[in-house]
Amino acid sequence: MKQIEILVVGGGPAGLCAALAASSLGAKVLICERDDHPGGQLVKQTHKFFGSEKQYAGDRGFQIGEMLLEKVKADENIELWIDTTVLGIYEDGIVTCEHDGEHVKIKPERTIIATGAAEKFLPFPGNDLPGIYGAGAVQTLMNVSGVKPAERVLMVGAGNIGLIVSYQLKQAGVDIAAIIEGAPKIGGYLVHASKDVRSGIPVLTSHTILEAYGKDRVEGAIIAKIDDKWQPIPGTEQDIKCDVICLAVGLSPLTELCWQAGCEMAFIRELSGHVPIVDDYLETTVPGIYVAGDVSGIEEASSAMVEGRLAGLSAAASLGYGKEEAPELQKAAMAELDELRAGPMGERIRMGLEKVAAKGGAK
Ligand SMILES: Cc1cc2nc3c(=O)[nH]c(=O)nc-3n(C[C@H](O)[C@H](O)[C@H](O)COP(=O)(O)OP(=O)(O)OC[C@H]3O[C@@H](n4cnc5c(N)ncnc54)[C@H](O)[C@@H]3O)c2cc1C
Repeated sequence: MKQIEILVVGGGPAGLCAALAASSLGAKVLICERDDHPGGQLVKQTHKFFGSEKQYAGDRGFQIGEMLLEKVKADENIELWIDTTVLGIYEDGIVTCEHDGEHVKIKPERTIIATGAAEKFLPFPGNDLPGIYGAGAVQTLMNVSGVKPAERVLMVGAGNIGLIVSYQLKQAGVDIAAIIEGAPKIGGYLVHASKDVRSGIPVLTSHTILEAYGKDRVEGAIIAKIDDKWQPIPGTEQDIKCDVICLAVGLSPLTELCWQAGCEMAFIRELSGHVPIVDDYLETTVPGIYVAGDVSGIEEASSAMVEGRLAGLSAAASLGYGKEEAPELQKAAMAELDELRAGPMGERIRMGLEKVAAKGGAK
């Protein structure tokens, strides 16, 4: 049985920052990451992030991931297990994982769940044909494995992910037939949409996919305009020839471990699914279990990093570390989160967090 003060599940931006913050107060940390390369979503983000300098705006996503990883590797208080999937959290506080081909038990004093998110899928006839991908898979093929994933893509979804991945596909020499979006307005930042439009990609709002067709794999899709009740308008169908349909229709928090641990959960639409109820310090209703990043509501890497820091500080402080400095550092992290969530783009998150607070938490 492996004993550790703080276990961090997931080595994305939230998990890496949680580990660094806990270690900075003196706690011993183990990170378990299921991938062979920590960094989470950052690994495949080749675009420059924007926002505040404090969260590395101006750097490319994968560079931020590398920088955090280097700090973690150089930190004597942090042990990093890669290729390690955490499988279960049990009532007696034991966590099990698959590590080096073995089933290993861990007994942590505190656990920070930073497992990120999973892509949503769409039901439509033909959606099981080869050639239908989530946007994350397309990005991994293209930006991590160096594989050109298609010749001509139909992108479904004009949130930031759909907009960014379309532009990256275009840069990789892939033709984008169109980006279609069910809502009457794009969901992502205008700066990303403008790059797509300038590069000649049609963005069709109030449009949906009716079906995909093809003999052994995707050969095309039928799309149509929809009305304000999201019903297809007869006569507006278009036949779009493509060899890949890429779905970028949102993410859901990856909360299986929270459910299993017995955390109180609530469905909060603004946070994109079921999320754990947490207090101001990101502790769930199960004492000693904290969450950070997309698992507590889909946001961005910037807020995931700050939440990671807050959860790491809080878990370490609860073990008695940093009695002098922890309260100020925690307060600073909370203020940074408020700053990131200010303004019109943070409105959805603020509404979601109010609902969490109303259910007894205070995220
Ligand atoms: C296309 C795209 C563009 C984006 N652009 C931006 C941007 O410009 N700016 C910005 O701020 N944000 C951006 N984001 C969002 C940002 O990447 C995410 O919000 C952020 O990565 C969330 O961090 P996280 O640590 O919570 O989760 P993740 O990055 O998803 O990391 C979670 C980690 O947990 C691991 N894991 C999951 N389950 C287990 C388990 N059971 N055991 C062990 N390990 C596990 C996963 O392998 C993963 O490494 C973008 C996202 C995408 C997809």
